[in-house]
Amino acid sequence: MTKKKVVVQEVGLRDGLQSIPQIMPTEAKKAWIDAAYNAGIRHIEVASFVPPRLLPQMADAEQVVAHALTLPELRVTALVPNLRGAENALKAGVHRVVAPISISEQHSLANVRKTPDAMIEEFQRMRELRDSESAWAQTTVVAGLSTVFGCPFQGYVPEQDVCRIVLKALDAGADVIALGDTTGHATPRHVGRLLQLLSSVIEGKVTSLHFHDTRGMALANTVVALDYGIREFDSSLAGLGGCPNAPGATGNVATEDLVYMLQSMGFETGIDLRRLVESRDILKRAVPDAPLYGYIAREGILDGSVPQQLSSHGVQS
Ligand SMILES: [Zn+2]
Repeated sequence: MTKKKVVVQEVGLRDGLQSIPQIMPTEAKKAWIDAAYNAGIRHIEVASFVPPRLLPQMADAEQVVAHALTLPELRVTALVPNLRGAENALKAGVHRVVAPISISEQHSLANVRKTPDAMIEEFQRMRELRDSESAWAQTTVVAGLSTVFGCPFQGYVPEQDVCRIVLKALDAGADVIALGDTTGHATPRHVGRLLQLLSSVIEGKVTSLHFHDTRGMALANTVVALDYGIREFDSSLAGLGGCPNAPGATGNVATEDLVYMLQSMGFETGIDLRRLVESRDILKRAVPDAPLYGYIAREGILDGSVPQQLSSHGVQS
């Protein structure tokens, strides 16, 4: 029987690092990408194309992308908050550009200085730019919806607001929609309710989810999303990160913990958990002030205590 595949996209290099004041040297970022790749990860969001004066941590985005593109079969994604960033990312040759579109107006203004509707218009311009060059035809344009399950400024985010923005993003030409729980407000029932609602509105366009573990709900939320057919999840090595414009947000769910759970459920991730845990050493050395999280790394991976499925883990593309 073939195992069900789940894509785990490492986003620590973007989401994780962007909220850390300590700049990670470019060489360390390259080493992190290599280590993730050698552990079997084939999907990485490597950078954000923003002005260096706003986010010095991402000043080396082009170099990091260029390095990532040398690795065969690695899908290279970049976050692009505006048309200029999208142009730079497309020229750099990324496989996917993700535009952050907040459901919450206040968060949108804080994050990209545009209302959600104005950001949708910017997103449409990005998609038109992608369509304008045949060389970019294979680049996927992703609407990365944020504050989908809650907002640090407005609190509750109504599900009809999410539906409205999802439909507008599709009208603007989004290839796929990713849902982000920017601040870790999501709970399992909420995730199920929203995915149920969205599946009745659109089919097959919401392809990935992005959970933060702020309230310890990320893995429970993941299980519910799996039940609704989602097969792609973002995570960050050692749970690194947060969001600079979302006060109180902590990091993404730790990649190690996510992989452990997925493999225990019989999903194929292609990731070698031991190598993944070992790759945390790069973070310890390069950003020693950043707190590192993760249950699996803390407790270790002991032979005999790991789920059956781990015994057959291999690096697969
Ligand atoms: Zn995030």
